[in-house]
Amino acid sequence: MDFRLNDEQQMMVETARRVGADYGLDYWRALDQKGAYPEEMWRSICKAGLCGVALPTEHGGAGLGMTDMALVIEALAASGAGSTVAQLFMLNPIFGGVAVSRYGSDAMRRDLLPGLCDGTVQFCMALTEPDAGTNSLEVRTFASADGNGWVLNGRKIWISAVPAAQKMLVVARTKKREEVSRKTDGISLFLIDVAREGLSHQAIDKLGTRCVPASNVYFDNVRIQGDELIGVLHGGWKQLLDVLNTERIVTTAGLVGTVELALKLAVEYANERKVFGDKPISSYQGLQYPLAQAFAEAQCARVMNYKAATQCDQGLDYGSEANIGKLIAAQACADATERAMQAMGGMGYAKEMHVERLWRDCRLFRFAPISEEMILNFIAQHDLGMARSY
Ligand SMILES: Cc1cc2nc3c(=O)[nH]c(=O)nc-3n(C[C@H](O)[C@H](O)[C@H](O)COP(=O)(O)OP(=O)(O)OC[C@H]3O[C@@H](n4cnc5c(N)ncnc54)[C@H](O)[C@@H]3O)c2cc1C
Repeated sequence: MDFRLNDEQQMMVETARRVGADYGLDYWRALDQKGAYPEEMWRSICKAGLCGVALPTEHGGAGLGMTDMALVIEALAASGAGSTVAQLFMLNPIFGGVAVSRYGSDAMRRDLLPGLCDGTVQFCMALTEPDAGTNSLEVRTFASADGNGWVLNGRKIWISAVPAAQKMLVVARTKKREEVSRKTDGISLFLIDVAREGLSHQAIDKLGTRCVPASNVYFDNVRIQGDELIGVLHGGWKQLLDVLNTERIVTTAGLVGTVELALKLAVEYANERKVFGDKPISSYQGLQYPLAQAFAEAQCARVMNYKAATQCDQGLDYGSEANIGKLIAAQACADATERAMQAMGGMGYAKEMHVERLWRDCRLFRFAPISEEMILNFIAQHDLGMARSY
């Protein structure tokens, strides 16, 4: 257990901080106001080699692991982006990278990974449906076998970054729920083009993460080619869980970096601001304790996330650690941004101070990609051995 960064990791973190600083708080504020996607920053992240950190070297990646990716995301989030930058990593190195590099065919790896690493190909993932959110096994979108491929019909909701993506990882049933004895059977993953006949999408207006649109997606007799299946036909659930668990590591890294940023903004402000006499408001314990508490919790989440990432890199089970890290990071980030806003008084409510964006954006991660309640259910059942409650 050596928590010192090696030279390569130190260099990567410095590079991420430099790229992050090039696209600082004002860049994100302007994009947030316009609801515009961070295209330019993503290109710079890719150009600096940071997207492909955990992807294979033979396809343009750095061949490192999830721990290294977590370090990069923390640094980018802390440099001004906040938690939204983690979404760009979920979309690309996770939904695209993990799915293709671990479960895709050789042709998929060869054709897609170089473009993923250099930012020319972007990804999204369509899992959630109006009646299948927390309970993903209720997905009803159906791919029926047809010739050497499938025909896809159904509806998805809340799918991030569809307009920015060329490729969509689709989770569909290939056997009806009623036809399988185990509900995890009969699910398959496909990687299809976003621009395809029969696929349409419509943006949903929302509170935060305004730079990354989320959409309703409709599949109306969408043709899927035989070579667009990823992983095992009818057996995609296991691969999906791998994608979703790595997504948690990325989420936690973004939240931990956001706590660092929110606390920095709050402390800078509170050290300057004087309300009664000559003492700055940062001298009041009422302001210090909640910020210190959020800092302590984020540090614990960070270490738990490194453990999850390390175990993932070592091929060990890491589901519990990834869940615990995400649970605590999302709560610490919600508290840190809330208390940072409180410490700034009225100015915390002003766009120019940036904390309100961090507060809105990180709220998402208390219920997505997995909710706090479901993590607690998981801990109660798997870590404590209690009866399943639902
Ligand atoms: C901005 C945004 C972006 C998203 N991006 C994507 C994306 O790119 N791709 C994608 O596939 N999905 C995406 N999602 C969907 C997201 O993963 C879901 O919203 C999330 O999984 C929760 O599902 P739900 O909204 O249907 O809530 P529901 O499943 O309806 O749950 C509602 C509430 O009930 C609680 N609950 C449910 N069951 C239990 C239980 N057994 N015990 C205790 N509490 C329970 C939940 O914790 C939650 O608080 C996104 C969502 C948002 C808002």
